[in-house]
Amino acid sequence: QSPEGRKMMEFRRSLPAYKEKDAILSAILQNQVVIISGETGCGKTTQIPQFILESEINSVHGAMCNIVCTQPRRISAMSVSERIATERGEKLGDTVGYKVRLEGMKGRDTHLLFCTTGILLRRLLADRNLKGVTHVIVDEIHERGMNEDFLLIVLKDLLPRRPELRLILMSATLDAELFSSYFGGAPMVHIPGFTYPVRTHFLENILERTGYQLTPYNQIDDYGMEKMWKMSKQAPRKRKSPIVSAVEEALKAADFKDYSVQTRESLSCWNPDCLGFNLIEYLLCYICENEGPGAVLVFLTGWEDINSLKDKLQGHPVVGDTSRVLLLACHGSMASEEQKLIFDKPEDGIRKIVLATNIAETSITINDVVFVIDCGKAKETSYDALNNTPCLLPSWISKVSAQQRKGRAGRVQPGECYHLYPRCVYDAFADCQLPEILRTPLQSLCLQIKSLKLGSISEFLSRALQSPEYLAVQNAIEYLKIIGALDENENLTVLGRYLTMLPMEPKLGKMLILGAILNCLDPMLSVVAALSVRDPFLAPMDKKELAEAAKAQFSRDYSDHLALVRAFEGWKVADRDLAGYEYCWKNFLSAQSMKAIDSLRKEFYSLLKDIGLVDSNPVNYNTWSYDEHLLRAIICYGLYPGICSVVHNEKSFSLKTMEDGQVLLYSNSVNARDSRIPYPWLVFKEKIKVNSVFLRDSTAVSDSVLLLFGGGISKGDMDGHLKMLGGCLEFYM
Ligand code: ADP
Ligand code: MG
Repeated sequence: QSPEGRKMMEFRRSLPAYKEKDAILSAILQNQVVIISGETGCGKTTQIPQFILESEINSVHGAMCNIVCTQPRRISAMSVSERIATERGEKLGDTVGYKVRLEGMKGRDTHLLFCTTGILLRRLLADRNLKGVTHVIVDEIHERGMNEDFLLIVLKDLLPRRPELRLILMSATLDAELFSSYFGGAPMVHIPGFTYPVRTHFLENILERTGYQLTPYNQIDDYGMEKMWKMSKQAPRKRKSPIVSAVEEALKAADFKDYSVQTRESLSCWNPDCLGFNLIEYLLCYICENEGPGAVLVFLTGWEDINSLKDKLQGHPVVGDTSRVLLLACHGSMASEEQKLIFDKPEDGIRKIVLATNIAETSITINDVVFVIDCGKAKETSYDALNNTPCLLPSWISKVSAQQRKGRAGRVQPGECYHLYPRCVYDAFADCQLPEILRTPLQSLCLQIKSLKLGSISEFLSRALQSPEYLAVQNAIEYLKIIGALDENENLTVLGRYLTMLPMEPKLGKMLILGAILNCLDPMLSVVAALSVRDPFLAPMDKKELAEAAKAQFSRDYSDHLALVRAFEGWKVADRDLAGYEYCWKNFLSAQSMKAIDSLRKEFYSLLKDIGLVDSNPVNYNTWSYDEHLLRAIICYGLYPGICSVVHNEKSFSLKTMEDGQVLLYSNSVNARDSRIPYPWLVFKEKIKVNSVFLRDSTAVSDSVLLLFGGGISKGDMDGHLKMLGGCLEFYM
């Protein structure tokens, strides 16, 4: 064994999971289902699959085991498998591999495969009994993602058919009982962890200790969300979420009488809708100048605010000084080189600052963190079944999450945690987050249930760990009927069957299918790929006007979707002359997104070929040779019934949908630039409620297009369709 190998073994033996190795292995040997819980970083993800692998390799039947371990995110599937290969001194793709959508690394000798939950679900589609798989490990079950909850129902059905199959569930929190009773009292193994004490500072303590003064003017976040909040404040207020009301109540009741006048004054200016970039900047600077060594982990809500805070900090004399500070981002779509830097210990004298989403809460462990700054929010989708509207809000986290975030500071020495909200607000947080299955639209899930032939949708979902609301299930079924994916009896139609073979939302799948049939697949591949990656149009704060002007060149069709196609086609041409970067730079486009679109297009194309929808190569790239009206029609076919009417008044126009009344456009939409839209309707990809309802990604369409392409021409049900549309027209008259 090499010195590195020995050192690695020593590290592995030092992890808390190692002490429980025998208990874990014997539990797995004796029980079909085992639930393992243990603090983040104790070695669940990296060690337990290896324990199983090693004990199986050493057992009588040799290396016959086939372990599949699911991860909720592709980034963890990739980074964990790479880490384990390193620990074993092997190449990735030997014993240990991974498979995520679009990418994989797996060989003949791979016995331990990490994959996303979605990949395992797709495998079940092809092979309901998971032939050849000996162990399924479902990791991070405490997150309660929709796919994981779904997978658990399917696996629970599978267990009696495969008595020798082993199921291991792993959780970072102590909610193991819920899962144990779901699986008929399955045994639980807890890995006791150790963390150093972490001192907690709530907002009032931070203000008291640092003397920072909050004013109504220094709490502005430099990113789009702020603008959205402001716009939504002007619109009539809708129902508030219970947690927002609880926080407001708590603030009203608090008196902070033990604190100085200055602190109290400061607290009265606190803006709970704001993440507080200025305060974060101040605190980071305070830590750099006053505290001992140790990395800082800042919890924000998403890559948008991470990027804008990063931009802001890069100009700071202390925090932006690269000879003293290494500033990194950590979120679901970061590049893999950046990923590695997060784990590395920087040189002496350099302080690592990581701006992260809640991905760093439980699924990624950064060992050298001593300071945590917690903004108290996470971006969370929720779903209002009553209005059938998804909402995406930076919302308050739960107490469990806040504790997890705090715990990140105590892994190597005693740490400090700064919560950017008062203690009374923490007290008003919910204990834990609602599972995703109870707070997101269920359309794709319902389609999957049908394609796996799992029987009645509502009966199946009633067997979930926690079942979704009746109304949410009915809305999803109704939607699938309207778009023509299910027939009256809830059976898959031909369209529905094709849609289940495409790993994307039904609305995007429909666009690809019709694009393929009508021989204009190429631009539709661009639309669908572009909608599946992060928005390629960049809007840096300091060059806003230039960026808007650049985007305007692509925006002559009253369509966000066609603007994406135009931008991509331009890039493709430039990229062939090796000028892709220059093109992106000039046009304020993300080169990373363009590349991602390019590879997704290829992937989708080969998928369509696999399912027999295309047989020729996509047409050449450099001409805009499609009838723009045809593209509008296909987009409409995909997005229906996401429609709103355009009502012009003297100066501008307003938008209305049947369910919500007045709605607004995201400010980055090309349709938000003009004061007139020469079409009566917009079809949109998504509406999102942030107090009022905002539409994302829209295309203007005419009456006739809506009549002919809305609702699903494959169904041939023009009568019903006309009736529906008649209803809409009546409503808008
Ligand atoms: P858990 O799943 O229980 O949260 P992990 O198995 O992910 O824990 O991690 C165990 C230990 O291995 C942690 O201390 C973590 O810091 C370390 N570790 C995990 N991944 C990496 C990596 N890519 N590079 C360096 N250290 C890592
Ligand atoms: Mg883990």
